[in-house]
Amino acid sequence: MKRSNFDNRFIRELPGDAGTGRTSQGVCWSAVVPTSVSRPFLLAYSPEVLDLLDLSEADARSPEFLQAFAGNRLLDGMASYATRYGGHQFGQWAGQLGDGRAIGLGEVINSKGERWELQLKGAGITPYSRRADGRAVLRSSLREFLCSEAMHHLGIPTTRALSLIATGDGVVRDMLYDGNPAVEPGAIVCRVSPSFTRFGHFEIFASRGEHELLQRLLNFTLSRDFPFIVGTDAERFATWFRLVCERTALLMVEWLRVGFVHGVMNTDNMSILGLTIDYGPYGWVDNFDPGWTPNTTDEQFHRYCFGQQSVVARWNLERLAEALLPVAPSRKMLDAGLAHFDGTFQAALSIMLAAKFGLLEWKEDDAALVETAFDLMQQAEVDMTEFFRQLAEVKQHAPTLETLRSAFYRVPLYESHAALFESWLVRYATRLGKQQDDDASRRVRMNKVNPRFVLRNYLAQEAIDAAMQEDLSKIEQLMQAARHPYDEDHPANLIAKRPDWALDKVGCSKLSCSS
Ligand code: AMP
Ligand code: MG
Repeated sequence: MKRSNFDNRFIRELPGDAGTGRTSQGVCWSAVVPTSVSRPFLLAYSPEVLDLLDLSEADARSPEFLQAFAGNRLLDGMASYATRYGGHQFGQWAGQLGDGRAIGLGEVINSKGERWELQLKGAGITPYSRRADGRAVLRSSLREFLCSEAMHHLGIPTTRALSLIATGDGVVRDMLYDGNPAVEPGAIVCRVSPSFTRFGHFEIFASRGEHELLQRLLNFTLSRDFPFIVGTDAERFATWFRLVCERTALLMVEWLRVGFVHGVMNTDNMSILGLTIDYGPYGWVDNFDPGWTPNTTDEQFHRYCFGQQSVVARWNLERLAEALLPVAPSRKMLDAGLAHFDGTFQAALSIMLAAKFGLLEWKEDDAALVETAFDLMQQAEVDMTEFFRQLAEVKQHAPTLETLRSAFYRVPLYESHAALFESWLVRYATRLGKQQDDDASRRVRMNKVNPRFVLRNYLAQEAIDAAMQEDLSKIEQLMQAARHPYDEDHPANLIAKRPDWALDKVGCSKLSCSS
């Protein structure tokens, strides 16, 4: 296997504990060795991520690759560590958390000079594991692997996934938290990202009064992850925090665009780079519903439901701002960043919605038009993905509801809402008539922002069920489809609306945090 060029800045430049397992005062990381697994087996890899690391498919099939990314052996240049962070979980400060089952393997510099940090998820106990086992089950690892890559191909900022390896060892999980633990197959994903720094990395130092370390992490982040920001210290800080807010706002708009619900937007699951990070009980909206959450742990309050994500992101940024206060040149800079979040989100939301509906520009009255559509879609149980692809087919001069029929889940609802949708379509067509456009070019534009294929919850579950029977073909099919999500041509079963059987099936519309 080709030797990669490692340059492990995180552990070289930030203080850590090299061997005693200390996780408190003064450390940003603690050295840890992955725990060996008994029978590693490569289930999947991403050729695109191999490429980022200058590795070939032959490398991926080599014994060294398997051993390294199963956590059985470090490659030359790798160093293994777990990092220290805290976080607000479901609105409460949860104290110190840290990489309980993630183990960093170092930072690769590729031939283009890009830096990619490698991290195993599920490679065994770390000094931050608290009472948990440091492992991950196949179902959750497969979901993380597939979704990371699917998000990337949709054009949405995300951490990436290099490999998915079955460990051959069992992991005990009480999947439904109902007192019925069972042994499940374990697996390890190797995640890849320019940085795995989370809001919670800053929060832990602020909460413990470790202001010097907070300053060091800030300097490090600016230097390694935002090297293009220049100026005086104060200018750099202001620009940086503003950019973190901006990227987070843009990410929220992107999630809304494709119907993605993260499910656990705790501050420890928020990337300082504005990437989608930590795929747990995430889900994809089938029937449009802003109140929907896939996460059963959030069933009561719906804190992290689809339509709340931007509000929660803002709240999380406020927690980050509080943590940064001791090292901020002024509070004003933090307030300005947060205000920039609001402005960015509103502006980007309008642009995104205009594009989704095929409007060349966003006019004042468009908010009402779009809101009516969303209200109707929710009431009439309309599939979000199917709706927008079909809306692109509507003819401006001859709009008919028939075009949208395939997006409805229930015939009676279709019938009872038909008149309302028809009058909405007349408004929509009138609006289209006010722009210099034609059906064909609008269709092309809309199909570039409205995906044909998304990783629906039940599709991932089918791939899991098959993989449990040692059939990996579904993973491959989903990877293929995920590579060109906006194209029309996909196998019919991959772009079908959610089947009824999936409504109540565990893993398809409801997921627990157990992973
Ligand atoms: P999550 O809800 O997956 O974002 O995890 C929240 C915290 O719990 C993080 O500090 C994780 O590292 C830790 N954690 C979750 N699952 C495990 C596990 N199986 N073993 C050790 N730590 C875990
Ligand atoms: Mg997490």
